[in-house]
Amino acid sequence: MKRLMIVVPCYNEQEVFESTLNELSNLIFDLIKKEKIAKNSGIMFVDDGSKDGTRRLICDAYKKYSHVYAVNLAGNVGHQNALMAGLEAAADLCDVTVTIDADLQDDTSVIEQMIDKYNGGCDIVYGVRNNRKTDGFFKRTTANAFYKLMKWLGAKTVDNHADFRLLSTRAVRELLRYEERNLFLRGVVTRLGYKTDCVYYARKKRMAGITKYPFRKMLSFAVEGITSFSVKPLKMIMALGLFIIFCSLLAIVYVLVSFFVGHANAGWPSLMISIWFLGGVQLFSIGLVGEYIGKIYLETKKRPRYNVEELLIHNEDE
Ligand code: UDP
Ligand code: MG
Repeated sequence: MKRLMIVVPCYNEQEVFESTLNELSNLIFDLIKKEKIAKNSGIMFVDDGSKDGTRRLICDAYKKYSHVYAVNLAGNVGHQNALMAGLEAAADLCDVTVTIDADLQDDTSVIEQMIDKYNGGCDIVYGVRNNRKTDGFFKRTTANAFYKLMKWLGAKTVDNHADFRLLSTRAVRELLRYEERNLFLRGVVTRLGYKTDCVYYARKKRMAGITKYPFRKMLSFAVEGITSFSVKPLKMIMALGLFIIFCSLLAIVYVLVSFFVGHANAGWPSLMISIWFLGGVQLFSIGLVGEYIGKIYLETKKRPRYNVEELLIHNEDE
């Protein structure tokens, strides 16, 4: 039987920790009883530099239960990097991993189906939300627009799939070879090329605590996703530039014609508009180019993605 590790990134999650621990533990015990996973399966919590009591709760759980493992990171590195830290630590211990958010908005009951598909030969199984009724109107529309945009820009992603997925250790090891610092996991995983499948579930509301993705972070996550996977925006700048040059040619023709017809067109508002518009377009374009240059800068440094402060792993012989 295969050994499973459920990887759970946690950042300031003290309100939900206990119930998450209970629910995931019961699930693990249940799957062990059904003989779907090995007896030494467990949960790998990743503390992403929480500022509240989360780390203490994780350490207590580790001391108390033999199926609880943990990676405590030295600082906050963000959801994606925290996931990588957990997967890297888990890969040495188990045969298969499932990643899930600490607030359990994703339905844990489909993990069993994921395991079945894994036993049926899949290396990657995506958890896909078939209903977003519990997300607010705003989150739903922005998320949908984002998936559409990603597709149009040519990045391969799975619609309505976030970071709830099963990965075999083999897939995790491949994933770890992608050394990019600008990490957008759901774009990378679709490139691994192993046999994949999906399971469907309805997304629930956060049990307690607040979202760690306010609008500002969501937006930067979206920009990150786009600029890590597509250079189309750079090409669009060029097209926009050509278009504006064409428009200004038309304007020149118009001015010349009106001059010869006899009524010269004086008007500062039209001048202001064109200056502001072009100024805006230029600043935006430079910013966009800068976004890519910033990425190159960060990648060339090859800094580590995270620093592990402590690794809490039970001795196998115990
Ligand atoms: N998270 C993290 N580091 C961060 C922000 C979030 O590890 O800097 C974790 C968080 O604890 C949760 C998951 O990432 O387990 C997703 O966050 P959240 O549920 O707040 O996002 P939402 O579901 O609202 O998109
Ligand atoms: Mg959530």
